[in-house]
Amino acid sequence: MIAIAPILLLGILVCEEGSTSAEYVDDALQCSIRLPEKFRDASQNESSSSLCRASWSANLGQYRCDIDFWVFNRPFKDPEEAAQLFVASLQNPNQWGKEKNFVEEERELVDRPVGRAGFGMVVHGTRHSLANKRPVSSAHLLTTVFDDKIGALIVDCSPPAGKSQRKVIQQFLEEGLRYDGPADDPNWTEEEAVGRWEEHAPESASGKEFKKPIRTKHYIILTNSSGGTSFAKKMEENYKKIQKIYPFLETSKRKLMPVFLFRTADEYYDFSVSVAGWTLEAARRTKGHAWRDYYATYYESPNDPVHIHEATHQIFANRLHLNGGGSWYQEGVAEYIETSKNDRNEISGMVERGQATPLPELLRMPGLIAKGDNQRLGDMARYNYKLAALFIEFLRESRFGKRKFPQFLKTLGSVPRSNLNAIDRGFLDVYGVGIDGVEEEFLKYCEKR
Ligand SMILES: [Zn+2]
Repeated sequence: MIAIAPILLLGILVCEEGSTSAEYVDDALQCSIRLPEKFRDASQNESSSSLCRASWSANLGQYRCDIDFWVFNRPFKDPEEAAQLFVASLQNPNQWGKEKNFVEEERELVDRPVGRAGFGMVVHGTRHSLANKRPVSSAHLLTTVFDDKIGALIVDCSPPAGKSQRKVIQQFLEEGLRYDGPADDPNWTEEEAVGRWEEHAPESASGKEFKKPIRTKHYIILTNSSGGTSFAKKMEENYKKIQKIYPFLETSKRKLMPVFLFRTADEYYDFSVSVAGWTLEAARRTKGHAWRDYYATYYESPNDPVHIHEATHQIFANRLHLNGGGSWYQEGVAEYIETSKNDRNEISGMVERGQATPLPELLRMPGLIAKGDNQRLGDMARYNYKLAALFIEFLRESRFGKRKFPQFLKTLGSVPRSNLNAIDRGFLDVYGVGIDGVEEEFLKYCEKR
């Protein structure tokens, strides 16, 4: 059995009675797993954890495979979100076991209902010895979601799988798990859509003029405004722009992202107070916000840059599932897409002259908006947003960062927020230098920019 997340290792596995050695049936999850014949001499192992529901060892030619089925309690809806969590567990030497790490190499969608979401994710990677950095084995995961649980079927192959072994493992992950439970409707049922509006629309907006939900390829617009259709069109344009800069895998099986579009600003403020728990004053300082699965705003101009900024937050939370790093990361990626290169000239000059917030300080800030409401603090917040955007520009466009940008997004978007040690380690993993080295390159970039 692969050692994973010992923090969570509690209880004893009770093997399903009647399971043959090559098959595991889980009535509660309404799924079963069958090992293919190419896995020879398969034996079912006793598991030390109730979270590992099934465990086998088998031979694949000269290769040894450990195959485990892990199930955690999490209310996730997207198998990719489950993949983030399992991959993070594999990458955490404290959780996975001290001797090996995991470097992800490839990720792809399985376009088949392997759980409630109607699709699954497969992740391939290599595990290296922490002592001598040599590859020890390869790990291959299929992740999926059940009612309030997430599952991962993990194959650990040693030595690392070659091309032909990988093909067998890939096929097993794609076909070996059978799911017979109910499936989510990615397009929302009418009942779900109307129910969501009735539950969350504030008193000032509820009851009157709720329009029929507008569905586009990626969004469902819940609105009482007559501008819903043109707004929906703009959201799709924004989606395309965001996906181009921050790529992610596409499938029609993902749940449409909800957008609350209110007719008036006051209705939006009331919503922000009742649903997001803000004060009215805080709500009044915004035109829209993304939180959890939704984006909420009111109808004014579909071209307002606030929409693409907030749509970026919504996509990072619900498509990329990158929620970490800190405010510099989350606001940086959103502000970078919202602003032009020229918009960042002033802050670049300030960095050059040593007038901007030093990088380590920016990376540590829990929020870029300082508490208080005076002019100076407002300016500082504005500069810090621009600084975060400029930092993303540097990582995406400079010779230093360009090639590693996708790896940067994934790695730093998964580290605990505002944690300087974790951020330093993240930079070291991606660029081979820590915060100091990155800051040095950033200054050089601003000088030459
Ligand atoms: Zn923002």
